[in-house]
Amino acid sequence: MSVNSQTFSLGQRPLFLFFQGQYNGLLMKQDIRLILKTYFGFTQFRRGQEEIIHALLEHRDVLAVMPTGAGKSLCYQVPALLLDGLTLVISPLISLMKDQVNALQEGDIPGAYLNSSLAPADYQSTIHHAVQGDYKMLYIAPEGLKRDAIQHLGEQVGIAMVVIDEAHCISQWGHDFRPSYLLIREFIQSLTSRPITAAFTATATDKVKEDIVRILHLENPYVLTTGFNRENLYFAVQTIPKSPDKVQALLDYLKNHQDKSGIVYCATRKTVEELSATLNAAGYEATRYHAGLDDWERQINQDDFIYDRKPLMVATNAFGMGIDKSNVSFVIHYNIPKNIESYYQEAGRAGRAGEAADCILYYSPQDLRTNTFLITNCQPGDPPKDPALVSHNLELLKAMTYYATTTDCLRAQLLAYFGDTPSNYCGNCSNCTTRFEAVDISLAAQKIISCVYRIEQRGKRFGKTMVVDILRGTKSQKLLSQGLDSLSTYGIMADMDVHRIRTILDYLIAHEYLALEGTTYPVLCSASRSGEIIFEKKPLEMMLPKDKPPHPLPDKTAELDERLFIKLKALRNRLAQEAHIPAYIIFSDASLQDMCRKMPLNPEQFLAVSGVGMVKMEKYGEVFTRLVREHRSQTKSS
Ligand code: ADP
Ligand code: MG
Repeated sequence: MSVNSQTFSLGQRPLFLFFQGQYNGLLMKQDIRLILKTYFGFTQFRRGQEEIIHALLEHRDVLAVMPTGAGKSLCYQVPALLLDGLTLVISPLISLMKDQVNALQEGDIPGAYLNSSLAPADYQSTIHHAVQGDYKMLYIAPEGLKRDAIQHLGEQVGIAMVVIDEAHCISQWGHDFRPSYLLIREFIQSLTSRPITAAFTATATDKVKEDIVRILHLENPYVLTTGFNRENLYFAVQTIPKSPDKVQALLDYLKNHQDKSGIVYCATRKTVEELSATLNAAGYEATRYHAGLDDWERQINQDDFIYDRKPLMVATNAFGMGIDKSNVSFVIHYNIPKNIESYYQEAGRAGRAGEAADCILYYSPQDLRTNTFLITNCQPGDPPKDPALVSHNLELLKAMTYYATTTDCLRAQLLAYFGDTPSNYCGNCSNCTTRFEAVDISLAAQKIISCVYRIEQRGKRFGKTMVVDILRGTKSQKLLSQGLDSLSTYGIMADMDVHRIRTILDYLIAHEYLALEGTTYPVLCSASRSGEIIFEKKPLEMMLPKDKPPHPLPDKTAELDERLFIKLKALRNRLAQEAHIPAYIIFSDASLQDMCRKMPLNPEQFLAVSGVGMVKMEKYGEVFTRLVREHRSQTKSS
């Protein structure tokens, strides 16, 4: 059977029914690809997807660890269509469930969800349909497993597969332990015939993986870990010490990325408030999100962002859990996050549909001090902090700082942190590209470290600001009154920009040539590796921003026909509004970009566009190809 719109209509009998329950060798690779194209619009599997689908169709349990955006949903959705019976998907987030079911329904795949947001009548009617066998997939929150209705459902319909999404929640060692996940095993055991059990997560250490297998009783599971790399993400660090310069950098970036959707993460509510106001004043449609806002405002602002009414979200890290917006094309961290786990998870919300996207960190040493303060100090009224936890968190922050100041490949840093073994050059991060130049900092390092030595020889210790002041020969009262101007290192770096000295100083700390001691007022002191610089005269090189301003980041869609893209987006948004669904559920930006490239004029060409399957072709083929035809004739005649 070939995918051909003339000979093939979904109207009468869904395609998946032809193949259902026929795996055992009869269902070939092409057939599964046909399902992939028909229902999901994709021609290629992403890494790991095909293996998992085949394992599940062979009735094997699965444990899959794949990064955010890798496409885990498809790994169980394709088999769910083909297995005889219902697939139950256990998912922790109500907002996410609704999105997933919306997307399924858009592809004419019978699915539904059950959670506390449903009115009792809707809940009952969903159960009724499920019992009738009207769904292939039913999403449910783990707490829901306790309800009698679900228990009965398990007795009345054949449950072919139980999928556990965000499976790390089952382990105490994971970062989001949810006790209700422990109900899953009991539920599965209560079923008369044991379903295939499949667990998916983006982050799991070995300990967590063991817990998942043990607690869920996975039987000889097919275990797949695809690694953490996301090739389409461009990683960048920009060192920007002063706040006004950050604002300017952001405005410059937005100017070069008009009409793109993105998230700007800030460390504090106050920064969120200020920055979103600044962006609005500058004419950008930005909304905001943090834990200090009312529930209703958070919901409205989140929807404004998801439905593309406002393309920019300025938020604290309270925003993003469960957000599956596929057209986020940049994530900017306005302040350095507390650890690499959070950074990678937040940055990973960009480029989920696989198109090129930017993850940029604005680094300033001041933010580092703020974070150190937050880690070490208690809020008034809070119990004292566990010293072991404080020192653990400071270590994590140190790794994050290393990322922000390293001259090595940024991607390599991230992947190595998660235990991958990457090459040391990716070519798609700001260190690998040419915005930095290698600078010999041997002399500067010697000067800075000797200054710390000299201070220690006098039996004193100072923080970074004072040390930099001494090096630059500042005539402050505090400095002069202690006679520090008589140090031999006083004023020996008077000709270097203060921010450059700070950057080098931070680099020396991150690489343990110097150390910071104390938590409330951290002071500089010599460290195990100081001797390598001042006695052994080890040459040291670091990547520093070139003296001229950095090039603007390349606009990766520049080669596209921007005018057509804008028209396609307008059409998509209109259709989305009419149907009351988020625009990206109709087509992702990646699909629209592919339309700009392929310029489809007829159904066949339209089907070749990434993200277009039979169902979407039938729904949207005509209007989109008509728009492309009109655009072509207009551009020809002009
Ligand atoms: P996660 O692994 O984080 O759960 P999702 O399942 O939400 O990821 O998928 C992320 C995005 O990738 C979705 O927009 C999805 O449509 C897209 N996607 C999944 N599989 C493919 C594929 N084979 N080809 C192209 N895009 C895909
Ligand atoms: Mg997911």
